Amino acid sequence: MQELLSEIAKVAEASPDKGEVATYIPELAGVIPDQFGIAVAFEDGRLLTAGDAEVPFSIQSVSKVFALALALGRVGDQLWYRVGREPSGLSFDSILLLEREDGIPRNPFINAGALVTTDTYLAGSNPREALGELLGFIRAAADDDSIHINEKVAQSELTTGHRNFSLAHYLASCGNLRSSVDKVLGTYCHQCGIEMSCRQLAMAGRFLIESANTPPLVAALRRRRINAMMMTCGHYDGSGDFAFRVGLPGKSGVGGGILVIAPGRASIAVWSPGLNRYGNSKLGTEAMEMFAKRTGWSVFG
Ligand code: GLU
Repeated sequence: MQELLSEIAKVAEASPDKGEVATYIPELAGVIPDQFGIAVAFEDGRLLTAGDAEVPFSIQSVSKVFALALALGRVGDQLWYRVGREPSGLSFDSILLLEREDGIPRNPFINAGALVTTDTYLAGSNPREALGELLGFIRAAADDDSIHINEKVAQSELTTGHRNFSLAHYLASCGNLRSSVDKVLGTYCHQCGIEMSCRQLAMAGRFLIESANTPPLVAALRRRRINAMMMTCGHYDGSGDFAFRVGLPGKSGVGGGILVIAPGRASIAVWSPGLNRYGNSKLGTEAMEMFAKRTGWSVFG
């Protein structure tokens, strides 16, 4: 496995086309594209890494996995009255379906749906407490208290996130937000500004592996369902392509990170900041394709 990871990192380094770094969040625009890291955290706690696996990056939408787990912990299946479970077939920040579908976002991993899950774990507390709870969940999952929020990234997104503000206002106009738009956006942007290395993210994802050795943070049924959502909706309108090429549940973020779960085996984090046309890490997706092919770990056999 170590040889495979080193080989994957070498292939990524040599790749002439590393994709395009996201520029719509100014703080992310300056990230050096020429970086690649991968980490595999096994169900028994062993960890292997290659490339820039210790470099912290902005996890962005990968945070939506942890936010979903927290929101489900708060309200259970009640969440599904406010957000759906179907792929949207549209970009991560699309507003198109919201009007047609009465302000019920298609799934918790597109931005509109994630604003509803943020609103759910925020209910009854304030942004500081709610973010403290989210960070507490992630730190417990990773067994690492150094995981933190990059305030500069959060502020950068807050000042330029007009699209997310419009999504939140639209949700509010449909009665699908309990807290104010400002509170929800403030919490959401800080959630997206969480920073982790591949090593930390792979460790944090271990609660989604089916194993007696991993942190029991969610019940088995919930773990299965979160994995199902990752498989069907984790890569926006590139979710079908990722399932086709990799065959494992995964969640991407515009910071270039992807968290992938190999059920019963391992949690894998891969990072390279350049994105493909769907807004998912280009080299990260290619690396996972090579990884799944060589390990034979696709859930489809
Ligand atoms: N914070 C980003 C946004 O809301 C997350 C999107 C992503 O990572 O795909 O635009």
